Amino acid sequence: MKISHIEHLGIAVESIEKALPYFENVLGLKCYAVEEVADQKVKTAFLKVGEVKLELLEPTSPDSPVAKYLANGGKGIHHVAFAVEDGVAEALAECEGKEIRLIDKAPRKGAEGLQIAFLHPKSTCGILTELCEH
Ligand code: ZN
Repeated sequence: MKISHIEHLGIAVESIEKALPYFENVLGLKCYAVEEVADQKVKTAFLKVGEVKLELLEPTSPDSPVAKYLANGGKGIHHVAFAVEDGVAEALAECEGKEIRLIDKAPRKGAEGLQIAFLHPKSTCGILTELCEH
């Protein structure tokens, strides 16, 4: 596959409202979009750092994967999202061929209208990895 850049870093937070003052008032970044992704049971807030985005993820339900991550003591960086140039479906097929465990067998719709799919951290050096495509 061909990865062009890090599209965003996903950061798990208990509350976007409580997290934003750090990112905006201390780091001086600006939140430019808030969007709920029903599919993943999260509310997202996006900030830009140059070409890379930060995606704050707040769970909207106790059975959200992000809620489980936080409940298990996880915090901070939740996933790394790479932009793939040759398509998420093709990248998934390639990963499967290389015996990488997939969370998503097929691309689905993520925030900002992206096609996304996740790879399992057990196969990716412990990094929950998202592949995405505009
Ligand atoms: Zn993401």
